[in-house]
Amino acid sequence: MQKTIFQKIIDKEIPAHIVFEDERCIAFKDIDSQAPIHCLLVPKKHIVRVGEASAQDENLLGHLLLIATQVAHQLKIYDTGFRIVINHGKDGGESVPHLHVHLLGGRALQWPPG
Ligand code: AMP
Repeated sequence: MQKTIFQKIIDKEIPAHIVFEDERCIAFKDIDSQAPIHCLLVPKKHIVRVGEASAQDENLLGHLLLIATQVAHQLKIYDTGFRIVINHGKDGGESVPHLHVHLLGGRALQWPPG
């Protein structure tokens, strides 16, 4: 199977502005930032999208949320607030078939989203 763009970032085949990395995930700045802070948290295990995660991924999914909060602290948006988004499928706005968590902040975000 062809590598996703995020797999290439994980494998350091293409550059990214990495803000956090451990053995289970990587976080880097979104190339098309929608807010002053916009990062993606990507598991190193290739899960296609959130709905395709299985029970054995339960820990990993929790880990991504905990690391998102940690990165929010690191990038100083914890106190002002932030949003965590996971897009699933066409209507959800998913464009890269490798599970990723968006972390957005640094300005007041609108609700409902467009
Ligand atoms: P989604 O639409 O939820 O699948 O999100 C995919 C995100 O990946 C978009 O916000 C893109 O801007 C972002 N993206 C695509 N290619 C790259 C890249 N090479 N480096 C960083 N972010 C990227």
